[in-house]
Amino acid sequence: MSRLSCGLCLLAGLLFSVWPTPSTSIDSTQFWLKIRASDKFQRSVIADTGVAIQWIKDDYVIAIGNLQEKKELEKLGWVEFSSSVAEIKDFPSKDSEFHNYTELTASLNDLQKKYPQLVSLSSIGSTVQGREILALRISGHLDQGAQMPAILFMGGHHAREHLSVEIPLLIVERMLEEYSKGNERIRRLIDSREIHLIPAVNPDGLEYDIASGRYQMWRKNRTQNRDGTFGVDLNRNYSYGWGTGGSSRDPDSETYMGTAPFSEPETRAIKKYIEDHQNISTLLSFHTFSELILYPWGGKYDPISDQRDRNVHITMANKMAEWNGYVAEQTSELYIASGDTTDWAFGEHKIISFTFELDPSSSRGGGGFYPGPDVIPVVVNKNKEPMLYLIEYADNPYRVLDAN
Ligand SMILES: [Zn+2]
Repeated sequence: MSRLSCGLCLLAGLLFSVWPTPSTSIDSTQFWLKIRASDKFQRSVIADTGVAIQWIKDDYVIAIGNLQEKKELEKLGWVEFSSSVAEIKDFPSKDSEFHNYTELTASLNDLQKKYPQLVSLSSIGSTVQGREILALRISGHLDQGAQMPAILFMGGHHAREHLSVEIPLLIVERMLEEYSKGNERIRRLIDSREIHLIPAVNPDGLEYDIASGRYQMWRKNRTQNRDGTFGVDLNRNYSYGWGTGGSSRDPDSETYMGTAPFSEPETRAIKKYIEDHQNISTLLSFHTFSELILYPWGGKYDPISDQRDRNVHITMANKMAEWNGYVAEQTSELYIASGDTTDWAFGEHKIISFTFELDPSSSRGGGGFYPGPDVIPVVVNKNKEPMLYLIEYADNPYRVLDAN
């Protein structure tokens, strides 16, 4: 989910773009190439060499290619500039605290090493560019996880929403730490639940956003669309109510829904993961920004028709708002947005589903998608209790109704 502010992002996305090296070939040299080309025929010659064209201007293209492709194009005399991709890919130094994909992978691996009894790391599928989408499964009884009530936390559907990757990761890290220190409440929760964390649903987008050391304000994944543009909005690509409003059929749009529901490997991986874990009762998908707690429906104005289902969402959202101070409301109170994660998870699977739009509340003053590292501990603190609350009630979220 994004607020209206996202409409501005396309312009910023037009800035110089650079392609990150896929993790699988991180050591093979890839080059950022500026190549002269003034018509589609020349561009086709360029594309035929195998390079990935990233951006098309009137008289040149920006592409990424390997050494052989670079040499081929140099023979034609068309290469105006080249530079190794490896030289240019990380967060701007002021934001180095945020995890790039390599650091995220290392952190998740470290958690598994540090807490082998509690943590199991796996890949749930590959992205368009071949990066692994990583999931952490956490339980005091990993071998019996499937019999436990389960909850799924996700971040990073949208590339530039880096805080949505950090917050669930850091809170889970803190929980594991507290578990090992003997915190009784945390021990009880982790011992009696299966907690799933997929911190970066869209690692291609994440890496692309930071690849030049200058933010690209990128939102979508990195699918190459038929018209040469890039990216599908993963939070418009789920099947429930797909394409029924608030998403675009234009591949160049920020909210491009894709060619079909679940056309993207990233959303397909989430779909399969949820279908493979029938014990997931509750889901929270982290996004930024606006300080909101959202629940279905996003694709229509109607409220959830079943009164109990509706009340569970409202009750839980209001309760969580007491801790983080966010505004709780139905997603479509913002505007219609079809094909999002929560509509599908609840509509298809009756999973109690929420979207958090994290800090800041606005782009003015708060930094919008790029709020800097200082907010991280603040946002961790205010969202830890909501996460623990959802974990607590994952055995039967409808208990919150009885508690009233
Ligand atoms: Zn988002």
